[in-house]
Amino acid sequence: MGDYHRVEAVDEGLEVIRVETRLSRRLGFCGHASLVDGLLLDACFPRAADRLLAALSGRTVEQVAVTHEHEDHIGGCGPLARHVGAAVLCPEPLVPVLRRPSSVPRLPYRHLLWGIPEPSPASGLGAELRTSRFRIEVIPTPGHTRDHVCFFEPDRGWLFAGDLYLGPKVLQARLVENTTDLLASLRRVAALRPKLLVCAHKGLVRDPAAALEVKIRFVEELLDGVKRLEDSGLAPAAIARQLLGPEDLFLIAFTFGDYSKSRLARVSLVPAGSYACPIG
Ligand SMILES: [Zn+2]
Repeated sequence: MGDYHRVEAVDEGLEVIRVETRLSRRLGFCGHASLVDGLLLDACFPRAADRLLAALSGRTVEQVAVTHEHEDHIGGCGPLARHVGAAVLCPEPLVPVLRRPSSVPRLPYRHLLWGIPEPSPASGLGAELRTSRFRIEVIPTPGHTRDHVCFFEPDRGWLFAGDLYLGPKVLQARLVENTTDLLASLRRVAALRPKLLVCAHKGLVRDPAAALEVKIRFVEELLDGVKRLEDSGLAPAAIARQLLGPEDLFLIAFTFGDYSKSRLARVSLVPAGSYACPIG
């Protein structure tokens, strides 16, 4: 099992934990959580919860705070509450989802890849998190989902980005997203001038200013292109084909079309603050 989890001390007071399963590795996915002075930020996916607990054994975890409700971020919440009595915190509107994850419908690929999260005794996040040594700000960053937040330690410049970043160019989206909000959130965190960024999937990004600049440019060009093609009368599927190329047919089949280029075009056309699917 050791092969499927790794703990890296990336800065004084900060450890980043990476977990995988055999399937997630084969499909090119993994999860990352960060441990800061007894506070775990994001909690990976249910199928890797035993790996996360193994990685944390011998370490103190008093609190777990998550960036959003997706099962690949809340998988360790229930087990950590049960095993070590950790307090679980999430954005306030998502408390009912963490308390009863089965209230959100999930397609079979999510069960297969990530697993089904167990309920956890969550409460709402305030404006900041405190440990004995650190103060961490909660930054609202909608876009990947309506209620997504990032965590930021201002003295060290650590940004815990959840699913805000996910790499320089993401070519597909789900209907829980809003690209206009995403762009505003990327600009908001770039203005914080983070020195280090932890992405829940890509892991450690050591030059966040450059990485965020590239991402912001990509999203700006995407929004401009989508708008221009819509004005010329094209529908989202045709816009996506022209701007982003043909769909990834494996991804379409695997996710039953939940995650696609066409949906990225759709969520790039809706106004700021508007979500076709607000939670899930
Ligand atoms: Zn997510």
